[in-house]
Amino acid sequence: MRSHLLNDTTAEQYRRSVTEGVERVAAKLATTQRPFTGVTVDALAPVIERIDLDRPLHDTTAALDELEDVYLRDAVYFHHPRYLAHLNCPVVIPAVLGEAVLSAVNSSLDTWDQSAGGTLIERKLIDWTTARIGLGAAADGVFTSGGTQSNLQALLLAREEAKTRDLAKLCVLTSEVSHFSVQKSAKLLGLGPDAVVSVPVDHDQRMQTVALARELARCAEDGRVPMAVVATAGSTDFGSIDPLPEIAELCAQYGVWMHVDAAYGCGLLASLKHRDRINGIEHADSVTVDYHKSFFQPVSSSAVLVRDAVTLRHATYHAEYLNPRRMVTERIPNQVDKSLQTTRRFDALKLWMTLRVMGADGIGRLFDEVCDLARDGWRLLDADPRFDVVVEPSLSTLVFRYVPAAVTDPAHVDRANLYARKALFASGDAVVAGTKVAGRHYLKFTLLNPETTTADITAVLDLIAGHAEQYLGESLDRVAS
Ligand SMILES: *Cc1c(COP(=O)(O)O)cnc(C)c1O
Repeated sequence: MRSHLLNDTTAEQYRRSVTEGVERVAAKLATTQRPFTGVTVDALAPVIERIDLDRPLHDTTAALDELEDVYLRDAVYFHHPRYLAHLNCPVVIPAVLGEAVLSAVNSSLDTWDQSAGGTLIERKLIDWTTARIGLGAAADGVFTSGGTQSNLQALLLAREEAKTRDLAKLCVLTSEVSHFSVQKSAKLLGLGPDAVVSVPVDHDQRMQTVALARELARCAEDGRVPMAVVATAGSTDFGSIDPLPEIAELCAQYGVWMHVDAAYGCGLLASLKHRDRINGIEHADSVTVDYHKSFFQPVSSSAVLVRDAVTLRHATYHAEYLNPRRMVTERIPNQVDKSLQTTRRFDALKLWMTLRVMGADGIGRLFDEVCDLARDGWRLLDADPRFDVVVEPSLSTLVFRYVPAAVTDPAHVDRANLYARKALFASGDAVVAGTKVAGRHYLKFTLLNPETTTADITAVLDLIAGHAEQYLGESLDRVAS
């Protein structure tokens, strides 16, 4: 069994084993015809159920053969140009290489004595990101597991900096299309059930600053204490970017912490064409970025950044067994002092390899391509009488719905769109997402693959229309018979 431990005597076995796995995935990538096979839970569950975990195969090749049946064959492949559903990107090879290295060396980024250079690399990437944002010389931050954790940590800092310790009085203002992790964070942070104040959006799905001003004033009148405004720079559904400069002014006026959730929009930090769309982000007290969304990085890769490094002390605890207080005076850099996690992956290495091989411009160009593709897709949808499209994209999503001229009952149209999404998923020909706008069911393309073309968009729209028409035809038949 010792032959399975990765060490000096097993280097050759490691090379062979990992190469065999890489070969399988490479073959898969090269031959995948559709983003999904359409497998159902009922078909796949028994295959996995049958496997007896107490009877190991004792053979890598056999385990990989089995993996083909339980996972690889029916996985949802984000690299396929017709995967258009959620905020998942195809990944860049330098980052995958970084992933292979970081898991084999297995550094843990909580302390210097578990990571050495890893800690300094992470710190340099944090500095690189805060400089791109423009947060100033006192800025700092830390890598996290994702945007959800980044938002939670930012709001923890905001809570600790708030003007009252009375949790029942605190509120957080955010737009009605912000991410649900704002609500989850409020709950975890012990705020009251109505602590999150939902600010209406305008036609372009951006926070209405007039409404924000009104809500801030109302909070003060009601004796509540606004703890943070969470602006969204790239809403999950629409990619809409809240008016950051105006929000910053209001935050300054009311002395409220400004958090910018740029989990999605952070790709603009590398953009060569559209960087100005995220102007105003430099006023933030804290920022969430998800490199695993718009920097083409494998999951997980995310960070929370702060304007003032001192505020990170709210996440600091010292333990004799890990990061004793004296290490601070000895100037030993322990990233755990800034993090909600303890043992923590060296995810930063993926971004490091990406920047060293491709450079930020390489990433920015890829993101610019998908933003431009979304604009072309919007033109197609806007000109197509079969579809109603919600907003012109600021990033790379399109929210639309099939609207047959002959059907006037909106609930029936809802059902046709729901059916089309399901039928498409079951076919495996393409994967699209769905959401609700003003109470009605819509479909969504999240375009993060530069390999997707307008021809793919046209083809998938035709598939959607076909499925929806089939549903409507059949449901009319049902009514008739
Ligand atoms: C995806 C997303 C998040 C959550 O990030 P995870 O990495 O999925 O935890 C937060 N905010 C926005 C706007 C997002 O799109």
